[in-house]
Amino acid sequence: MAEQDCYACGKAPLTKNEVGLCKKLLGRQCKFLFCLDCLAEQLDVTVEYLEEKVEEFKDQGCALF
Ligand SMILES: [Zn+2]
Repeated sequence: MAEQDCYACGKAPLTKNEVGLCKKLLGRQCKFLFCLDCLAEQLDVTVEYLEEKVEEFKDQGCALF
């Protein structure tokens, strides 16, 4: 599987936000990346919550976004 596929549903390519969010929330060493839908399911949160997080991290000037 290519590095930037969703591990759960296979969606590809993942957006920069999706990749950045996975690294931020799952750890940079995490081998598995998820799309927003699947990441929300993994973490038991809503997609809206994740989108807010993306904005938060952007505001903090996080280099991953
Ligand atoms: Zn997915």
